[in-house]
This record gives sequence, structure tokens and C-alpha cells, in this order.
Amino acid sequence: MDFDIDGVILETTQDAIKAHMGATRHHHKWQIAFKVNDETADVEVVDVIPQTSRTGRVSPVAELVPTKLSGATISRVTVHHYNMVKSNGVGPGAIVQLVRSGLVIPKIEKVVKEAEPKLPENCPSCESHLIWEADHLMCPNKSDCPAQTENTLIHFFKTLGNNDGFGPKVIEKLSQNGIRHIHEIYNIQVSEFVSFGFGDKTSQNLFDQLIASKEIEIEDWRFLSAFGVSRLGGGNCEKLLQHHDLPALFDISVEQMVQIDGFAQISAEAIVEGLKNIKEEFFKVYELGFNLAATTKLSEQGEGDSPIAGKTVVFTGSMVQGSRGDMEKQAKALGAKVAKSVTGKTDYLVAGEKVGETKITAALAKGVEVISEQDYLQLIA
Ligand SMILES: [Zn+2]
Repeated sequence: MDFDIDGVILETTQDAIKAHMGATRHHHKWQIAFKVNDETADVEVVDVIPQTSRTGRVSPVAELVPTKLSGATISRVTVHHYNMVKSNGVGPGAIVQLVRSGLVIPKIEKVVKEAEPKLPENCPSCESHLIWEADHLMCPNKSDCPAQTENTLIHFFKTLGNNDGFGPKVIEKLSQNGIRHIHEIYNIQVSEFVSFGFGDKTSQNLFDQLIASKEIEIEDWRFLSAFGVSRLGGGNCEKLLQHHDLPALFDISVEQMVQIDGFAQISAEAIVEGLKNIKEEFFKVYELGFNLAATTKLSEQGEGDSPIAGKTVVFTGSMVQGSRGDMEKQAKALGAKVAKSVTGKTDYLVAGEKVGETKITAALAKGVEVISEQDYLQLIA
């Protein structure tokens, strides 16, 4: 090849054989990956730099002598955690073996030559004394660590995903001007942005984006997950909001939460605690009046009301009647479970235009009913 590849997929091309071989829950049996990428490189570590995340966890990043590996020049790699730095001797002068193994992100396969590990005593952002928590070094300063604050704000806007003005650079500048909380950002006037050192145009633009981000409709589960509570990613937020309204979530007990499918004691305890910690800030932001679309309650989905209630539906290909995203939303509102890929549990594969034959054959092989967009619309009509 004239270019870098990390392997090939071997597959049978005969539909009859494909149908006969079928698939497991995870892969087609008529396809096999033949990976050839065993390219590794031994690279010298120049330095190990600590970085504090929004949760206070401090991650070690190894800066490397720039080295070409599987077509890319690698100059830094994240080390798993500081316990690895400590016990495997990752420090300036160490030699690590890197691999990209089909991934874009390089990773350390092993430490070839150890060196004196470099462990920080203090948070690189706020100078607080770091403490060990299992394998990780943590910054214990929950209230006033710039790195944690900035990363929390960055996470909020990134998760909201409806404006592109509030990236790391802008957030850093706001933080330098004493902004610590999401609700404060929403109260900044154009003239204040200017006084923080933003240009006239940018200031107006940032102000407008904040207004837009409140007006654009956004799912309530996405809004909640933007606050970055540990164990409250989008999936868990949606599960909780299928049972309780957003404001009411802050009042439910651990006992109530474990009643909900998918929440064990330990995660329920962590989530209840996490919600308590953000409660004050959450309501300050919530009361700014975001345009939130409430998650449909399981009790309202009324099985039997719609022919797809309780069914698992996968949409694929391009749809003619509307965007696939809208169709997925509608299906959820009708009580269906919408999945991204076909498994043995899928009831319907709704195939739009330009869908590969292999996808359809595979679905049929799993006993999935494949229907066109038109059939689907008739079904739910
Ligand atoms: Zn800190």
C-alpha cells in the first residue's frame, strides 16, 4: 500500500453464505479482521506533566521525543495514572514502547527502560497539596481550583453543544477575570465582555450565543449531564428522567433511586451526593430559563397505545420524510427503544435510502423485521 493501513477485513461476498453464517450479538460471522498493525516504537520520555481535570483527578502526560508511528508523529501520550508513573518508573529519560493498534490515540504498551518517576506534590493549577485516591493523584480543592473550574465550564458548553463560542480559550479568559460559575457567564453583558479584553464584535457575538443557547431546544437529559456529575452521563440522566421530572430529581433518595432499573446502591449514593453538591448552582442556571425538552416518562409511554411501544427500533440510511434524529425522537416518544445497531433484540430495522445490502442481510439473518421508511410511517400512523 502507498498509505498506512492497520489491517484488512476479510469477508465472504456471497449473500447465501452470509445468511447461512449469520451473526453473534457483536459481529458478523462472515467477516474477520486481519490486523497487521503491530508497529511499535520505543520512545524517550522528555518530561511528565501533570494536568488537573474537572473532577480534580490529576493526569500524567508524557512529553516525548517526537517519533513517527503508523503514519503520525507522536510527541505526547497520556500515562494511565500516577500509580503507573510511580511503579513503572515513568520519568525524564525513561523509554516507553508506544503502539497505535488501530486507534488514533497512541498508548503506552510497556515501559522498556525505567527512570526516576516524576511525581508532583502540588496541583499544577492551584498549588493545593495532592492526595492519593486509589491509583490517582487528586487535587482536593473543590471550590477554588482554576483548572477544575475551567474544565467544568468547558464541559458544560461542550455537552450543551449548541454554541461554539465558549471553548477553552474564552473560558480561560473568563476565569482569569474571576468568573467561576455557569450562571455568572449567563449574566455577563456585552460591555463586560469588552472590559475582559474581548473585541467589540466578539463580545456581541458571545452575548448573542448565550441567548441563543437558552432559546435553542435541548433535551433535559443533555442539560443535566452538562453539569458533569460523576456517573451522570447522558445515558443515566435519561434513565432517571424517564421516572422523575428534572427539578424533582434533586429530592429523591438513594432508596428511591435504586428502585429504578440500572442503578445500584453505590452509584445511587454517588449520584445523590453529586446532585446535592451541584444543587445550588444547578437551580441558578435552570432558572435562567433554558428551552428544555422533557424526557418522556416511561409511565406515559403507554405500552399498547402505539404499535412500536416497547419495541426496539434501529434507523439506518437517509430518510426522506425528515431527519433521522427527528424520527428517532418521535419513536422514543411513542415508547420505542431506539438503538444504534442491530442485535438479536432488535424488532425493526427501518431502512432509508442508500442502505448497504450487507446491513439488511445481516439484520434478516438475526430475525429482525426490515421495513422501509414508508412501511414504518404507515405502522405508526
Ligand atoms: Zn487544584
